[in-house]
Amino acid sequence: KLHNEVQELKGNIRVYCRIRPFLRGQKEKQSVVEYIGENGELIIVNPSKQGKEGRRSFKFNKVYNPAATQADVYSDIQPLIQSVLDGYNVCIFAYGQTGSGKTYTMTGPDKATEENWGVNYRALNDIFRISQTRVNTFTFEITVQMMEIYNEQVRDLLSSDGSARKLGIVSTPQPNGLAVPEASMHTVNKTSDVLNLMDIGLRNRHRGSTAMNERSSRSHSVVTIHVRGMDIKSGSSMRSSLHLVDLAGSERVDRSEVTGDRLKEAQHINKSLSALGDVIYALAQKNAHVPYRNSKLTQVLQTSLGGQAKTLMFVQLNPEVGSHSETTSTLKFAERAS
Ligand code: ADP
Ligand code: MG
Repeated sequence: KLHNEVQELKGNIRVYCRIRPFLRGQKEKQSVVEYIGENGELIIVNPSKQGKEGRRSFKFNKVYNPAATQADVYSDIQPLIQSVLDGYNVCIFAYGQTGSGKTYTMTGPDKATEENWGVNYRALNDIFRISQTRVNTFTFEITVQMMEIYNEQVRDLLSSDGSARKLGIVSTPQPNGLAVPEASMHTVNKTSDVLNLMDIGLRNRHRGSTAMNERSSRSHSVVTIHVRGMDIKSGSSMRSSLHLVDLAGSERVDRSEVTGDRLKEAQHINKSLSALGDVIYALAQKNAHVPYRNSKLTQVLQTSLGGQAKTLMFVQLNPEVGSHSETTSTLKFAERAS
């Protein structure tokens, strides 16, 4: 209880850290994580440095044990999803290097079963469930858009022409307006509608290859759920939206190793992730000026970052010692936001 109140006071940005477990068949089992506290403390150890110097501690709103299940994680964010139906705009995104579990958290593993569904499916399922409980007083209309941002261009992942067209963004959308009105809108009534749409979207998603993970996505994917509710008695209506974002991998690339398209991709990713970091930092500091205009990503998410909106960042970590320096840079990004 108290913890929740403290979070409310801190404003509308929460940072939850999730550490992926070691995968089956992985030989290396030495973890960079030395300690996970009850109250969001985390200590990371650098195996090449002895004693105090090799340790660094961080503090977030929550840190999950690697054994945490999808259901454990969802139960913590359920109140945020509920608040979408109360009229709040919400943005949930996953940040981390490729292979750290971003897609696992947001969508689930490949060939997910209901048990290991990620946030996307659970959130929609819950939105349907909660809207059903209010069916006597409210009618809800739930529509979904799914897009990707690749090299600073926005594409529709659900269009019939397979995401070919580049879409424009409304530069100063209303809090309840659409940031990308040209992206196709799909009405959903039940979970299977959502599963079908997301399948199409995932298939259309841009994939490149990196040494680390062949199927790594070098684009940001954004699922937007628009909720429109109407009070049956009074006729008054409300609108809100939920953005669910699987960000491109945050790993730094060695400029001497990539050239051409790969270098360009890396620069675009870098630019948009920094812009996101700057927006969240400005919001956390309660700065008067929030620099939304510096990337397509922050423009697309603008209506659900700041103002009354609630934002949750999952910081995803890879536990392997070999990732120590990347993990540290991920944690520094997250620390700046909290
Ligand atoms: P990213 O999207 O950040 O590149 P993935 O979500 O694809 O990373 O995760 C990399 C691999 O680790 C995948 O095989 C995924 O299924 C697995 N994985 C990630 N997080 C977990 C977890 N919490 N439990 C079990 N497996 C996980
Ligand atoms: Mg992924």
